[in-house]
Amino acid sequence: MLKIAFRPEYAHPLPKNHRFPMEKYELLPEQLLYEGTVTEDNFFSPDLLSESEILAVHKKDYWDKLKNLTLSRKEERRTGFPLSAALVERERIINQGTIDAANYALQYGVAMNIAGGTHHAFTDRGEGFCLLNDIAIAAQYLLRTAKAKKILVVDLDVHQGNGTAEIFQDNPYVFTFSMHGKSNYPMHKETSDLDIELEDKTDDKTYLDLLRKTLPRLIDEQEPDFIFFQSGVDVLATDKLGRLGMSIAGCKERDKIVFEHCYNNEIPVVVSMGGGYSKKIAHIIEAHANTYRLAQDIYF
Ligand SMILES: [Zn+2]
Repeated sequence: MLKIAFRPEYAHPLPKNHRFPMEKYELLPEQLLYEGTVTEDNFFSPDLLSESEILAVHKKDYWDKLKNLTLSRKEERRTGFPLSAALVERERIINQGTIDAANYALQYGVAMNIAGGTHHAFTDRGEGFCLLNDIAIAAQYLLRTAKAKKILVVDLDVHQGNGTAEIFQDNPYVFTFSMHGKSNYPMHKETSDLDIELEDKTDDKTYLDLLRKTLPRLIDEQEPDFIFFQSGVDVLATDKLGRLGMSIAGCKERDKIVFEHCYNNEIPVVVSMGGGYSKKIAHIIEAHANTYRLAQDIYF
């Protein structure tokens, strides 16, 4: 069964006219239920992530500032969200969702989180709508509990997975692969184990050819026994923040390539949702919904 982490807290209230499309966390589960891609049984409610899991990835100073709501104004502004106890709680729930999803993926081959992919969270700071790095936290959990020995992070959000790259820069058990817009945020990029930088307006064919070439090679070389997929849909041409030129069909094909490689190689995969900032919310929802539709089609 396709298990999907979700709680109503994912859709966190933001000030009016905030540029983050928070409503997608409400609309996507609604759409998936409405069209019959999932039923209520597919969803599970994660609890609050423990501090020890947080501290396995993030520096204590930083976590203390989050917990005590004492980020400086500048640090808070860099995260993109107004800091509050409810926001920190939301982040802990989402991050526990990715750990739970990892356990479900070991059982069912795939599991997903209706949020997460918070790849701009570093060991010691948050930025770009990311406070705690869910993929890093779940990866450390899998390694520590010996549920995985070698992890591949496939980060296909239009923005570089800079926080994930920093967190695992000296860790030989996690291979970080990020394919992203060259001229997109972050301007200063970290060094992932493999970075592929894409020119502005990169089209479906160029993108998909590159992915089809790269992913099987990485799986052969790295022999991962677990994959995290950051499936940001800000690769779309309609995205306000992204600079690529992909169609919704191209984005769906991208997800299909990732799932098929995981499925055919019997490597469990967790999908964290990642970004999506198209002007029309319908485009964001459609592209994210495709990822869930594909998981159902391919695995179940
Ligand atoms: Zn992004």
